[in-house]
Amino acid sequence: MTTDNVHLHEINKFGSQAERWWDTQGEFKTLHDVNPLRLEFIKDYAQLTGKRVVDVGCGGGILTEGLAQNGAEALGIDLSEELIDVADLHGLESGINAKYKKISAEALAEEQPESFDHVTCMEMLEHVPDAGSIISACAKMVKPGGMVFFSTLNRKPKAYLLAIVAAEHILRMLPKGTHDYKTFIKPSELSQSARAAGLELQGMVGIEYNPLTKQFHLGKDIDVNYIAAFKRPE
Ligand code: SAH
Repeated sequence: MTTDNVHLHEINKFGSQAERWWDTQGEFKTLHDVNPLRLEFIKDYAQLTGKRVVDVGCGGGILTEGLAQNGAEALGIDLSEELIDVADLHGLESGINAKYKKISAEALAEEQPESFDHVTCMEMLEHVPDAGSIISACAKMVKPGGMVFFSTLNRKPKAYLLAIVAAEHILRMLPKGTHDYKTFIKPSELSQSARAAGLELQGMVGIEYNPLTKQFHLGKDIDVNYIAAFKRPE
């Protein structure tokens, strides 16, 4: 099954910045900075060693490599050819053994249902036309008993102020135009779509930013950026 659940302008936008993906001080610094926190959260809920994990919307592979470094047999999927190439090349350079494939979440779910011990999907749901379809595909790919992790931005005025006005325009932490407020997803909406796909919420925390120390940390404030863990029951 193929899918039209993609905004080509999103794929092209990210793809055009591909060569700067691994610049830890560049446009994607934020993804590099939050990566250890996402891994910490994931490891609180999932054992990674020897597990098959798919990273949906992997971009240049920042989280995918982290999963592999933690012992997972990691596969990253994305629809951007340029980013899949960057991820492959970076893996060769770093010697980290992750695999990458250009395929949609829906097509992989059709091809390999109940095949992955865990699924991750970070900062991607807000870039697709139908987030529910990605959530269902993730639920379909994971084995019963496995975990599915999502992170995204909350559709709250505070997120507009901090994730768009401050991060894109004032602090220049993200390229202008990275995010569109109306595509942000409320935690209740994410939980509801996940529940409809047969997933059970296990935990949710905020990925908070302190502009004074310029550091991210995990905390209770889910008003801006948040990460959630879901389980597919046995
Ligand atoms: N998950 C990565 C990258 C986030 S950026 C990380 O957090 O480090 C968003 C990514 O989603 C981009 O790589 C973009 O190409 C990808 N993307 C957007 N729409 C997609 C779709 N429909 N299918 C697969 N990937 C998609």
